Amino acid sequence: MTSVSETELRAEIVRTCLRMVELGINQGTSGNVSARSGERFLITPSGIPYEEMTPEQIAVMDVDGTYRGPCKPTTEWRIHAAIMRERPAAGVVIHTHSLYATTVACLRRAIPALHYYVAVGGGPTIPCAEYATYGTPELAASALAALHGRDACLLANHGLLVVGATLGETLRRTFDVEILARQYVYALSAGEPSILPDDEIERVRLKMRTYGTQEADDPGLVRLDAPPA
Ligand SMILES: [Zn+2]
Repeated sequence: MTSVSETELRAEIVRTCLRMVELGINQGTSGNVSARSGERFLITPSGIPYEEMTPEQIAVMDVDGTYRGPCKPTTEWRIHAAIMRERPAAGVVIHTHSLYATTVACLRRAIPALHYYVAVGGGPTIPCAEYATYGTPELAASALAALHGRDACLLANHGLLVVGATLGETLRRTFDVEILARQYVYALSAGEPSILPDDEIERVRLKMRTYGTQEADDPGLVRLDAPPA
């Protein structure tokens, strides 16, 4: 992966936030986004609507909570700092109160494997973290615990939290989990969804690693023309 400058990363965060608005997965000023930049991370400011946010308003933060403005970081900075500190492979964290994921979070249920795509979260469920008051160290701790071995979790009576390597990957994953939550809510309203077994989700998870890439191995697929030299 090529490294991007802090200036480019700021612009990319703004684009990601606007895309969240376009996708309908952001509610007012409740969402927040962070992206690792060297030893520190960039984080969206508190209380500024995404449509009005400028790249300069994004704060720079250390995992210990010290920051440089001009704007105060989101009130959920503790969750972002905890993930950046405890999960070195995490490059991006997205938090949102998207409608369907939050609906399931209000039921304090995990999203089960009703669709094979649950594997985008890294396991057979999208777990739901225990409730704690927003902005507290307790919420950061419960989110971190729920994310153990996973890249997405619900926050009870609150919203959704997603981790990824890049802004693009994490945004896609956030949208995918919101769609899964919508499917779960619809399935529950129509009946009782049939849940896939854990070993099937593990098979899917491994298969998804190469999905959509040219490395994907498909023994049934036979190439007739000559591959490019
Ligand atoms: Zn929130």
